[in-house]
Amino acid sequence: MPRPIQAFVHTDALRHNLARMRAAAPDARVWAVVKANAYGHGIERVFEGLRGADGFALLDLDEAQRIRGLGWRGPVLLLEGVFEMRDLELCSRLDLWHTVHCDEQVDMLSAHKTQVPHRIFLKMNSGMNRLGFTPTRFRSAWTRLNQLPQVDEISLVTHFSDADGPKGITQQMATFAKTTEDLPGERTTCNSAGLLRHANDVAVAADWVRPGIALYGSAPDYPERDIAAWDLQPTMSLRSRIIATQDLQVGDTVGYGSSFTAEAPMRIGVVACGYADGYPRHCPTGTPVLVSGVRTRTLGRVSMDMIAVDLTPCADAGFGNEVTLWGKSSNGAVLPIDEVAQAAGTVGYELMCAVSSRVGFTQY
Ligand SMILES: *Cc1c(COP(=O)(O)O)cnc(C)c1O
Repeated sequence: MPRPIQAFVHTDALRHNLARMRAAAPDARVWAVVKANAYGHGIERVFEGLRGADGFALLDLDEAQRIRGLGWRGPVLLLEGVFEMRDLELCSRLDLWHTVHCDEQVDMLSAHKTQVPHRIFLKMNSGMNRLGFTPTRFRSAWTRLNQLPQVDEISLVTHFSDADGPKGITQQMATFAKTTEDLPGERTTCNSAGLLRHANDVAVAADWVRPGIALYGSAPDYPERDIAAWDLQPTMSLRSRIIATQDLQVGDTVGYGSSFTAEAPMRIGVVACGYADGYPRHCPTGTPVLVSGVRTRTLGRVSMDMIAVDLTPCADAGFGNEVTLWGKSSNGAVLPIDEVAQAAGTVGYELMCAVSSRVGFTQY
């Protein structure tokens, strides 16, 4: 028997979240962002739930190939474009649309031999200073691209640094709008936070939106709002079982470093889940967890293969009972991944991407 820990991917929840993203920008087409192996879920496992999207956006050529391998004939966008010349051959062969964010990518394209010209997404650095041409250089890049026989339609793209926070998108949006004012082409600007928080900004909804994290049931602006407030559902559940129990007396301690001390007699469960499974070691005592769907807390340090939980609220629980580390328990109780991420000082994105390879996945 393998260890009882397992991850689950929920197809219905993916469909539901995708519908929510559509509803937030009803006139826009939706890229389902499936980079990082669909935020740790596995591209093959999310495909059924997300195939209602208008296109798939990702970074890895290998992942693009896998999407095509699943029979997807619609748009596929490389969010960082190509990294070397031979990537362009794959773009031609698989009909991949690609971002162009720097001169080197224009150079490569101009040297590329192709029968069919490529659909390009020209990226502007409107203030995030990660990828893209600055506003002063954007138009000359557009002109240069527009003259290349290798280039078909050019779309315009930028990315917001603060769509989830108080700074917002106003400044970047104004820069983008002004610089592209009289340029033709479709526009795409926003990620999940932009879409959910700024959808009333007409320019934001644009032609294409690019949600990622919200599709996977994590609130992009947690804790300001949680998934219930955004009507999103968890798409990944990490579940295991209790493999031992201990009865503690006053003064007894739990785990490495004895960081938790019992102040009253109590029963604890030992769960087959540790940091080697991708559960964050930084989760302190008190991190929420569900035992048979009942909310309780972790106790002491997370070790490599195990973690202890307080069984006080679930007196009947013992050996073999289900423990939900995040997501949905099998009786339907929900523990948003965002709550666990916050306890660990990180975000839901990181937790979903970090489930380790020794954890088996099931899709339902
Ligand atoms: C990752 C990414 C997205 C999706 O962002 P979320 O915050 O997950 O919604 C959108 N656009 C680009 C360019 C990205 O790299």
